Formats: sequence, C-alpha cells, structure tokens
Amino acid sequence: MHDYLVIRYGGFVPAIKICTDEHIVIRERLLDGIARGMYLEGGNIKAIVLERRLSEIDRIYTLWHELYHYFASVHKKNESFRASEAHANYFAALSCCPHVDINHIILTIAEDNNVTFEIARLRLQYEGMYQFNLLH
Ligand SMILES: [Zn+2]
Repeated sequence: MHDYLVIRYGGFVPAIKICTDEHIVIRERLLDGIARGMYLEGGNIKAIVLERRLSEIDRIYTLWHELYHYFASVHKKNESFRASEAHANYFAALSCCPHVDINHIILTIAEDNNVTFEIARLRLQYEGMYQFNLLH
C-alpha cells in the first residue's frame, strides 16, 4: 500500500493531501484515553479524529495509522483486529520514515527522521532488522 501511494504521489507521500483527495475530514478532539485516533465513516462522511493532546510527531504518525484503516476498508482487507493494528503501525512508521539506512541504529533513525524511538523501532522491525541490542 505504501508503494502504491509513493507511485501515486511521485515519491513524497503527503498525509494531508491524501485526506483531501479522498474526502476525509480531519478533526481534533479530546479522546480521553479511548484512543490516539480513529477512522470513522457513515453515510457519505469519512473522518479521522485525532487526540488533541498528541505531540506533532505522534499526530502525523496517528494520521498515517488511521489512513491505513481507511485504505484497508476501501480494499476490503479481511484482517483480524490484531493484524490490522500491526499493519497500520508498520504503514505509519514506513510513511514517517520512508528512506532509512537499515544499518543505522534506532537513535540515528529517530534523529534523522524527527520521530520517536518507538516509531524508529517499528520502522526497523518492518525491515526485519530490529534487534534489541541495537538500543545499546
Ligand atoms: Zn488502529
């Protein structure tokens, strides 16, 4: 799915533009610990609701995560809840850090891409390169 978006948008994949193109409205609300974000659809409304108190990094990560759920719903992917959450996390990490040197450590990936350690960890895990000792 990430490859498809990279081709569609010519390399750089802009989350906000995708929402505009797909007619998805973005709203920020206090979600009171229910979730960091959610994708909702009903009638002819599609919306991504983001927790208002997220940091800028977590906001864009969560936006990507919810976009995965949108695209999965369009493509009628029959995933278990667990699988879909894992795929949404990987998709978001990949979208936040599209180009990484897999020989780099989490610290470098986090700094180069201006993301959290958790996002950098997921990104390396996506490449099958993550090992716990990379933290040291
Ligand atoms: Zn999710």
